[in-house]
Amino acid sequence: MKTTLIFATNNQHKIDEIRTVIGNEFNIITLEEAGIDIDIPEPHDSLEKNASEKSSVIHQLKQQNCFSEDTGLEVDALNGEPGVMSARYAGEGKDFQKNIDKLLGNLSGKTNRNAHFKTVISLILDHKEYLFEGICEGKIIEDQKGNKGFGYDPVFIPDGSNKTFAEMTMKEKNVFSHRRKATDQLIEFLKTHT
Ligand code: IMP
Repeated sequence: MKTTLIFATNNQHKIDEIRTVIGNEFNIITLEEAGIDIDIPEPHDSLEKNASEKSSVIHQLKQQNCFSEDTGLEVDALNGEPGVMSARYAGEGKDFQKNIDKLLGNLSGKTNRNAHFKTVISLILDHKEYLFEGICEGKIIEDQKGNKGFGYDPVFIPDGSNKTFAEMTMKEKNVFSHRRKATDQLIEFLKTHT
C-alpha cells in the first residue's frame, strides 16, 4: 500500500511543485483534504525551527505521518536577509510584490547580486522527525521578469539558466529548484524507510 503523508501547507504553488516531483509513488494529501483549516504559525528565527513547528502542529492534531517545508531567500549583500523573514519582509500582509519592491530597493546600487533559496523539509514518520535541505544558488536581477510561479520568482535567476524562475514552467523550475532538491532527499529517505 502507498504511504500517505499530509503536506502541512496552504500554499498551492508548493503543493503543485512537490506533487510534480513526488509523482505517484507516495500519496500526498493537502491540509484541506485532511480536513484541517488552520494558518500554521512560523514564529521562530530559523527555517529548521519553523519547519519543525509546522509538521509537529499537524502531527499533534492528526497523529498521522506528515511533512512541512519552510523556505527562505538569503541574499549575500544583505547579510542573508530576508531569510526566515522572506514571507513577511515588507510586512504582515505577505504581499509578494511589496516584498520584491523592498528587496530591489535594498539592493539598489549593489554590485554583488548573489543569493540562494534554501528549503528545509521536516518529515514526521512513525512519530519521529527527520530534516532535509535543498539549496539553489543564483542572482537577483534589477528588473523583474516573468509572471509564473510565486514569491521572489520574478527577480531570481538560478545559476545555469538565463531565465528567472517566473519565466519557467514548473518542470523547468524543478530542474534547478531548492524545493525539488530537498524533496529528492525526502523521496530517497521514504523509499528506504517505508
Ligand atoms: P514560507 O515561509 O516557506 O511559506 O515562504 C517564505 C516566502 O519565501 C514566501 O512567501 C515566498 O515569498 C518566498 N518563497 C518561498 N519559496 C519560493 C520559491 O520557490 N520561489 C520564490 N519565492 C519563494
